[in-house]
Amino acid sequence: MKILLLEHPRVFIPERCNDIANTPLSSSLLTGYAAGMLQSQGHQVEITEGYLDNLSYAVIKQQVSDLKPDLLGVHMVYHWRTDVDLFSFLEEIKREKLCPYIAAYGFYPTFNFAEILRECSAIDAVITGEPEATFSELADALSGRAGRSNIPGLARSDGTGNISHTPRELVEDLDSLPFPVRTEAMYRLPEVNLQGSRGCYGQCTFCYINPFYGHGSRWRGRSPENIAAEIDMIMAERGVKDFYFTDPNFFGPGRQGQSRALHLASLLRERNIRFGIEARVDDIHDETIAALVEAGLRHILIGLESGKDDSLKRLNKMTTVARNEQAVKILRKHGIEPNIGFIMFEPCSSLEDIRANFEFLRRNDLLNNLPVTANVLYHHQIILKGTPAFKMLQGEGRLELPPGATYEGSTTFVNPRVAVLADIMRQITNFLFRRMSGIWSGKEQEPRDAELKYEQINEMLVDLFEANLRALENGKLFTDEEKHLVVQEAKKNIDHMLEV
Ligand code: SF4
Repeated sequence: MKILLLEHPRVFIPERCNDIANTPLSSSLLTGYAAGMLQSQGHQVEITEGYLDNLSYAVIKQQVSDLKPDLLGVHMVYHWRTDVDLFSFLEEIKREKLCPYIAAYGFYPTFNFAEILRECSAIDAVITGEPEATFSELADALSGRAGRSNIPGLARSDGTGNISHTPRELVEDLDSLPFPVRTEAMYRLPEVNLQGSRGCYGQCTFCYINPFYGHGSRWRGRSPENIAAEIDMIMAERGVKDFYFTDPNFFGPGRQGQSRALHLASLLRERNIRFGIEARVDDIHDETIAALVEAGLRHILIGLESGKDDSLKRLNKMTTVARNEQAVKILRKHGIEPNIGFIMFEPCSSLEDIRANFEFLRRNDLLNNLPVTANVLYHHQIILKGTPAFKMLQGEGRLELPPGATYEGSTTFVNPRVAVLADIMRQITNFLFRRMSGIWSGKEQEPRDAELKYEQINEMLVDLFEANLRALENGKLFTDEEKHLVVQEAKKNIDHMLEV
């Protein structure tokens, strides 16, 4: 059977340009894993990289027309509610009979399949959660190798608005999966993405990793030997030395998790590679980090999320501020400056929480690098369907949903003063991200004296945050006009600093 898997073009909306949760990094291998499984079953599979190869829908349509696939799989990524182009494209494919069956998969469709099936009649089914086995059974059914009824993990509409869906069991043995297929576009990225594990043993309220995998999701790891074998294959085929583990949590739980990481480090050490990982702070231990650095660990993203224990409890992070600080120290001791996940503004934040967050970042020297500073001083909690936070706010009647959309919710800040600071910082940092997008994406040259200019902007952002936080703590009430003036003044300063 001929199958085309599509990574569709993605739309970026300026005011959401630096929001990170439209799809987690771990989804970058969903298509590759599905393709690996389908190829291993004897199907002819091609992948179209509409996003990484910057293809237009016209070009993609031509590819579909040339291949005439029996099944088109679309890795559907949340677009901040602008699915219009994608849906019209799929309708066109169906109308012109270029493909008889279209199935969407990915994080967004997993949580929003009912709405997607209702909105886009061209989509025949949605594959929820891990896609490999469901894709394989769907391909068997479509090619007549098996019956079409009741495929677990597949959501379908009966055409009258009734949607059927039975969740699928988790893949117990990740080593049993064929290695993912990687496209040329994926090999052009600075690092080759790997997936050493799935799921997480945490239960953070804002996170949709475990909800994506479904009931009973927990951390599941591949064996170090299986990971090393994939790395060997990639090194032999492509000569690549730089890798990134897209795992939401590189470490498994407890001692066993540390032992596995140590064993993996011992296998990787002799391969002379470099790699990055993402992890929880409570898995950052001196001995393991030392071994991983020796094996090639060069960068890490850790989810600190807050500088206040109350907030960490609210987020169900199951860590403490002391543990956050210890993790940063251990990483720096081994020469790694961490990139950090941080939620400055939660719906329930008080000004004291914001102050605690700010002082935490300052005393831990986490406000010295412009891209990090700009991120941590504005990040608010994004509320997506499937997360415990979404359910909780819905249960409390505090969740706001835009008309006709059910995937991303919002809520008003409980404290109106926090709302003022969040709004000011979001407007300013969005302006900065837009202003710097060409430079930070490597498409434009850095300005003259770039380092000095970034330092000045960094300092300006920190001072501005502090000054406005202090004013709010002292009881100042900002009118809309005053807020506007603060934002305009900051934008003018950023422009000026970048241009002189
Ligand atoms: S630690 Fe990270 S991956 Fe795990 S539940 Fe929390 S946010 Fe999600």
